[in-house]
Amino acid sequence: MGGTFDPIHLGHLQCADVVQKKFNLEKVLFIPAGIPNFKQDKKLASSKNRLEMCKLAIADFGNPTFDVSDTEINRKGVTYTVDTLKEFSEYDIYFITGTDSAATLEQWHNYEEILKLCTVVAVTRKGDVKHKLNPKILLIKADVIEVSSTQIRSLSNIKNYVTPSVYEYIKEHELYSIIT
Ligand code: NAP
Repeated sequence: MGGTFDPIHLGHLQCADVVQKKFNLEKVLFIPAGIPNFKQDKKLASSKNRLEMCKLAIADFGNPTFDVSDTEINRKGVTYTVDTLKEFSEYDIYFITGTDSAATLEQWHNYEEILKLCTVVAVTRKGDVKHKLNPKILLIKADVIEVSSTQIRSLSNIKNYVTPSVYEYIKEHELYSIIT
């Protein structure tokens, strides 16, 4: 499960849960992406905070197959999905991400190799897909809470969208715009 997770929210967790159950996956590894320089912004959380929130979220959510990997956060230089997939190449990998991200797959570094190394699964939360997806990508419709990290970063009350420990963490570290 690849994403920036800034922050991780119930939509991500529910999407992962749907895909895990659908394909009977042995493990779902949440892999927060390293943030490229151009995404740096005062409102964005640091890599450490995003990783920590992923750990708290999966502990709260309670699906025993969920785990977190810090491999992209700790990798030096630009992080490419293809390198991450190579690290886990002994497994039969389903790379899960959102449809908006998956729609740009053909611009990703070595995308043809990505398609050889894994099955790319694009999850749509709203049911509609605005962009054309590569025919090799599996599209899964997940009927989950409608929220995005972008929305959460600008809301003042986010209690219903993140797990309790993530909520407390965001409050304690004064991340994003939340007031309550
Ligand atoms: P993003 O721009 O942060 O997100 C784009 C859209 O996809 C947003 O609507 C986002 O919703 C949704 N999304 C992202 N991850 C999701 C997930 N796991 N489940 C459901 N929806 C998700 O995209 P990103 O996080 O940078 O990229 C996603 C993944 O693609 C990462 O693992 C990244 O490393 C990989 N990627 C790799 C390359 C490359 O190798 N060159 C290039 C681009 C992306 P939310 O805001 O709610 O998350």
